[in-house]
Amino acid sequence: MSEPAVETTVLDRYECRACGYVYEPEKGDDKDDIPSGTSFAELPVNWRCPVCSAKKTAFANIGPAGTASGFKENLGYGLGVNNLTPTQKNILIFGALALGFLFFISLYGLQ
Ligand SMILES: [Zn+2]
Repeated sequence: MSEPAVETTVLDRYECRACGYVYEPEKGDDKDDIPSGTSFAELPVNWRCPVCSAKKTAFANIGPAGTASGFKENLGYGLGVNNLTPTQKNILIFGALALGFLFFISLYGLQ
């Protein structure tokens, strides 16, 4: 209650893995009188999903609002492509070529 800086920090959203409900810190939770700006970590331990009553442990961190797509851990996988060695990139390229070739052959076979 004594942290005015909270309003300027970007708070992570959490998604209920049971029903897909997303807790948005900027909005809070009207049903349980959670004021807006309450981070997920600040929610009472006995707080539950307002939709399906799942426990807090059923929620997954999906990062702050406005981020490109979904889960934080997935961002790591996306960036991982940039860390590939040239050999790994070649494998990817040849793999794509092989797939294209197979696709061409399958079309040819249909005629
Ligand atoms: Zn839920």
